Amino acid sequence: NPMNTAAHPERTREEWQHLDRQHHLHPFTDFKELAGKGSRIISRAEGAYVWDVDGHQILDGMAGLWCVNVGYGRKEIADAVYTQMQQLPYYNNFFQTAHPPAIELARQLTELAPRFKQVFFTGSGSEANDTVLRMIWRYWQLQDQPQRRVVISRKNAYHGSTLGGASLGGFGVVHEQMGTLIPDIVHINQPYWYGEGQDMSPEEFGLLRARELRDTIEEIGADKVAAFIGEPIQGAGGVIIPPATYWPEIQKICDEYGILLVTDEVICGFGRTGEWFGADYFGVKPDLMPVAKGITSGYIPLGGVMVSERVSDVLMGDAGEFYHGFTYSGHPVACAAALANLAILRQEHLVTRIRDDIGPYLQQQLRTLQAHPLVGEVRGLGLFGAIELVADKASHRRFDSKQGVGMRCREHCFQNGLIMRAVSDTMIIAPPFILSHAQVDELVSKAWKCLDLTARSIA
Ligand code: PMP
Repeated sequence: NPMNTAAHPERTREEWQHLDRQHHLHPFTDFKELAGKGSRIISRAEGAYVWDVDGHQILDGMAGLWCVNVGYGRKEIADAVYTQMQQLPYYNNFFQTAHPPAIELARQLTELAPRFKQVFFTGSGSEANDTVLRMIWRYWQLQDQPQRRVVISRKNAYHGSTLGGASLGGFGVVHEQMGTLIPDIVHINQPYWYGEGQDMSPEEFGLLRARELRDTIEEIGADKVAAFIGEPIQGAGGVIIPPATYWPEIQKICDEYGILLVTDEVICGFGRTGEWFGADYFGVKPDLMPVAKGITSGYIPLGGVMVSERVSDVLMGDAGEFYHGFTYSGHPVACAAALANLAILRQEHLVTRIRDDIGPYLQQQLRTLQAHPLVGEVRGLGLFGAIELVADKASHRRFDSKQGVGMRCREHCFQNGLIMRAVSDTMIIAPPFILSHAQVDELVSKAWKCLDLTARSIA
């Protein structure tokens, strides 16, 4: 078929699995374990569903990796990409040049988040966080306070896998494998009430964990602290939604000490909370916002850092060159994809739909899983959800991690046409924004069935 422009030949599942095992190292994967099993090969997608090469239809409760917010198969994005590819497939923004897609996207982003004046584009969320670090340090140098170096982050945070992103992140296992971290990054405790705070009210716990920021600033010396960074809602750490008291207190402390506030919006950004950004949802005023994922709904890689007036005024001052940038900073095709994606979000009112319709419906239906014997807590907000699996419902005692209960549940889900992700024994979801009410029902009934299968397999 001369019209068949597919980039790969036809092969059977076994052939793909064999070649995958031989030649392809997967991200965040135990290579040996996977080689023993073979990968699931996903070959197409439409709406909220993906299909594997054997034709099994699977409801994607994770929107890929929290990114395919407008759903799969959006021809508008494909067309925008195709058109841009023909007109200007690539040009850089170095050497005092620019192109319309990057300029227009920067303009639209600052319209969506009016506190922000400018955007620095990157290729990913990790690169956005590396850029955040570089900007923070540059900002304080230009303010004649170069000794302000320390960035305070949180344990169990996820900020990416570059050296900067992984150092900012708070995953102990990652830090162990790295050996040496980027210096001047300090991690405080997270606002994870279900996991770490049940001996007090969520409100008290939120304040307690926020006030650790003040204690840590005092300990280090306020004149040495440059910034605080946090995900409005921790994603990869297990959909951890801070108590309502947390973010306002963090804001207060950052203001008090004049340190920069960074909300990592890579997951929360572009609507998942029912507001355009997580900072809007929690009513905080960040100085920098790294974004990625939902900016293009994952169709093409793109990230960026949104820069507020406070930082922008300094960087735009008599600062000299900022020695930082990527070949793909503001890639025209990625920016064209983002523009088409933002147009869909706006035209279909997908963000208000999360706030007023599908978000509340998902949250209400998801809560019915609370009745399941395996479930310790169901929590969620907007189109985020988490289901904590426990060995004992009354005492909230957890399973021995060696039992791998979360992984078993994830397997049962895959087998039964549902993608949920496991973070230890917390099952998490972040479905696409176009999820219908019927698909919410499908998600919840499949989840219940898979919880049953999981319970049976460990009995
Ligand atoms: N920050 C957050 C909050 C994320 O969730 C992620 C990715 N899951 C990143 C940064 C890193 O983004 P990327 O994988 O695009 O580098």
